[in-house]
Amino acid sequence: MSEPRAEVVVDLDAIAANTAVLRERVGRPLMAVVKADGYGHGLVPAARAVLAGGADALGVAVLEEALALRAAGVTAPLLAWLHTPGTDFAPALEADVELSVSAEWGLAEVVAAARATGRAARLHLFADTGLSREGATTADWPGLVAAAARAQADGEVEVVGLWSHMAYADAPTHPTIGAQVRVFDEAVDLARGAGLDGRRHLANSAATVALPDTWYDMVRPGVALYGLDPLGGDPAVHGLRPAMTVRARVALTKRVPAGVGVSYGHTYSPVTETTLALVPVGYADGVPRAAGNRAPVLAGGAQRTIAGRVCMDQFVLDVGDAAVAPGDEVVLWGPGDRGEPTAQQWADAVDTIHYELVTRVGGRFTRRHV
Ligand code: PLP
Repeated sequence: MSEPRAEVVVDLDAIAANTAVLRERVGRPLMAVVKADGYGHGLVPAARAVLAGGADALGVAVLEEALALRAAGVTAPLLAWLHTPGTDFAPALEADVELSVSAEWGLAEVVAAARATGRAARLHLFADTGLSREGATTADWPGLVAAAARAQADGEVEVVGLWSHMAYADAPTHPTIGAQVRVFDEAVDLARGAGLDGRRHLANSAATVALPDTWYDMVRPGVALYGLDPLGGDPAVHGLRPAMTVRARVALTKRVPAGVGVSYGHTYSPVTETTLALVPVGYADGVPRAAGNRAPVLAGGAQRTIAGRVCMDQFVLDVGDAAVAPGDEVVLWGPGDRGEPTAQQWADAVDTIHYELVTRVGGRFTRRHV
């Protein structure tokens, strides 16, 4: 078989080990978030890896992701939380997918599906405790709780979770954290007063590594499972190892004189005669255009900044007098232990977060699980 032009290599043992580290640290159930194609690591392989590492449940954003996991034979408890009006929930109920509801109209749609299928829906009621994203506001929560309690009494739903999501867990001393916890506690009290007693869960990765007071009955990390530090530092501090390596092979090299203009707009020019190396991945593959003249890659034994603009299918490196030849490996990011940059370094260089980098890399990269 020919050598791949460009590939994303995913270390599934690292994902399993990261899961085990976090599961052990919290000493309570862990719902592993595998949405967005397992944060770019592959939905089904990532799900199997986190379950091998001891995850108790899986979380995804949308129903299609949940059904894809069931179709692949994944039987673990599974929550899907982001739905639009008119969603057909019947396949979810038939596949034992737990559902989040944020509003009474959403609950009514789930109840209708429960009646149609004769299967009680397992629900997580989502409280908006201060992120102002999903979830019922404090004003709307009592109505949602009352409606859910009626549906539970009628046998149409079973409330198995009470949950919320944090705005600032990556800033562990931020005052909104205490405020969200207080609102969450009040929301839980109200639900319990109405006879709803699901598992409470609030903590994303940052809270899982830094805020034990938010762990409640279950934690719900995503990015940390893939070995990325939710606090933007060194994942090894938390016992985590990055699972993704992004690599490509040099397509062409050429010797050029000082002063040539490199790539569109000639935003880079070498100051001496040099060798340019062409790397055959670009923004259509999820390499941010903003990486031009900013992000580092490992090539020819050293980290080098991308020379000039990233194009749709390719970018250029100035490798100086290093012995770089067509076919040689270029590593965009990886765990960092072979001298390559990390996703965190890339995120800092292009002013984004590693979440965005790993979930967007794709396009024409092949993905290989090891
Ligand atoms: N819970 C919810 C509702 C989310 O949307 C996410 C991801 O954004 C997570 C948990 C996991 O977050 P993180 O990847 O920061 O751990």
